[in-house]
Amino acid sequence: MTALETVREQLKPGKLFINGRSEDAASGKTIDVFNPATGEKLTTVPDGDAADVDRAVAAARASFERKNWRGMDPSKKEKILWAISELLAKHKEELAVLESMENGKTLREAAGADVEPAIDAFRYYAGWVRKIYGETIPVDGPFLNYTLREPVGVVGAIVPWNYPLQIAVWKVAPALACGCSVVLKPSEFTPLTALKLAEYCVEAGVPEGVVNVVTGYGPTAGEALGRHMDVDKISFTGSIRTARALLKASAESNLKRLSLELGGKSPNIIFPDCDMEAALKSAFWGIFANKGEVCSAGSRLLLHAEIHDKFLDALVDRAQKLKVGDPLDKTTMMGSQISAIQLERILSYIRSGMEEGAKLLCGGERDTEGAKARGFFVKPTVFSEVKPHMKIAQEEIFGPVLAAMRFRDAEEAVEIANGTIYGLVSAVWTRDIGLAHRLAGEIKAGSVWINTYNGFDTGSPFGGYKQSGFGRDLGAYALEQYTNVKSVWVNLA
Ligand code: NAD
Repeated sequence: MTALETVREQLKPGKLFINGRSEDAASGKTIDVFNPATGEKLTTVPDGDAADVDRAVAAARASFERKNWRGMDPSKKEKILWAISELLAKHKEELAVLESMENGKTLREAAGADVEPAIDAFRYYAGWVRKIYGETIPVDGPFLNYTLREPVGVVGAIVPWNYPLQIAVWKVAPALACGCSVVLKPSEFTPLTALKLAEYCVEAGVPEGVVNVVTGYGPTAGEALGRHMDVDKISFTGSIRTARALLKASAESNLKRLSLELGGKSPNIIFPDCDMEAALKSAFWGIFANKGEVCSAGSRLLLHAEIHDKFLDALVDRAQKLKVGDPLDKTTMMGSQISAIQLERILSYIRSGMEEGAKLLCGGERDTEGAKARGFFVKPTVFSEVKPHMKIAQEEIFGPVLAAMRFRDAEEAVEIANGTIYGLVSAVWTRDIGLAHRLAGEIKAGSVWINTYNGFDTGSPFGGYKQSGFGRDLGAYALEQYTNVKSVWVNLA
């Protein structure tokens, strides 16, 4: 059987995953899950609400207090996390097909950018389980002072639809490595791989109640998790609007701590002395990968005046040849946007670009050719003559729409680069290594890529400056999110 046939055969209505069991929502209500590339209804999942979140949090709390996970021998936990990575690897082809079908991204992207990083993250955090420990601190007086790193407790992980499995794992794997119990709330658009993940966790040996999944909408299930008095921490990836709601929910409930990975409007800065071919590729995939629904998209292309026209000519030529279509076809380069709402949002930004006087070089409309009429496809779009104050230069579009701008010197490039509310990632292309490092210091962003774009590794931290959020996913830095530090004093006198 092919991976596609296996996925189709297994597509049953999804269930909540609470205390190791599959359950319906207390209300009995369900949400339809669609393939955005075809309009086909794939299945349903429960429309979980506050009552279901209560049950999931109670299960997570009970497992945490029973200490059947956090109290387990570290070497055993390490083996279990490694076993989860092996289960993900064993099912990687089906997972990639499922992710492609629920999200509309190409199969190649689902395999390479969702499933592989998820496998790697469990391997990486398996390695951390036995290395999370405190310190002894020299203090005045007859005292022994040491610190303990303890799991923070019950973690609510709320994740978006653009990299559903990858982002869920970026939260669940380090939370488990630290000994926490988790309630995961996937996006209502893409809940299917999160449910698979929970099954694999239990199959690998994670005790019941430690990993729970509540499917449902943001304002019901998500909000209930954010307001829950027995949730110790929320790890969130998504929009600024939801981040504000979660901050408010925390303030009005138990002051639970938050880490927030939000959007971006990231500058990709190209100087004339760089490797032009490599920079072109970065500009192309920086905006068109995952159909632009990427928090780290290089959505602002800052071109030095000397190469501006030539660079854009070459880029537009490639954009016009980009193959948009069936995500499951291995030759497709760009799939469907996630939803009708997202499609309309992107088209309205394109209209705003034209109204504000930017010059449309290619794309600029929905792609309805042939079978694409059933999905939410957008033609790769490039604007030039964009001014920094325009909406398409300031706001996150989350689609395949590039805003190109011209700069004359490094100072102007930095001013434009830092001139938005965001600060997630950035890139600088130049062979002048002194200039590159100076700019790395001056750009206000959580990542600066020099002569590369979208550099990711499970070991390297990822997160934002300014309104791109706070806290870090990945690497050793993520462990800070899921642990508390306790200071213990012993009177030796
Ligand atoms: P979103 O904020 O609408 O939804 C994200 C999650 O929050 C979903 O699970 C949703 O159901 C839930 N949610 C919505 N309202 C809620 C509420 N009131 N309380 C609690 N939960 C609620 O974002 P989205 O549209 O799914 O994703 C797109 C956004 O995510 C973009 O802004 C993008 O930049 C951002 N993003 C950031 C990163 C990063 O790492 N920085 C990665 C991917 C996506």
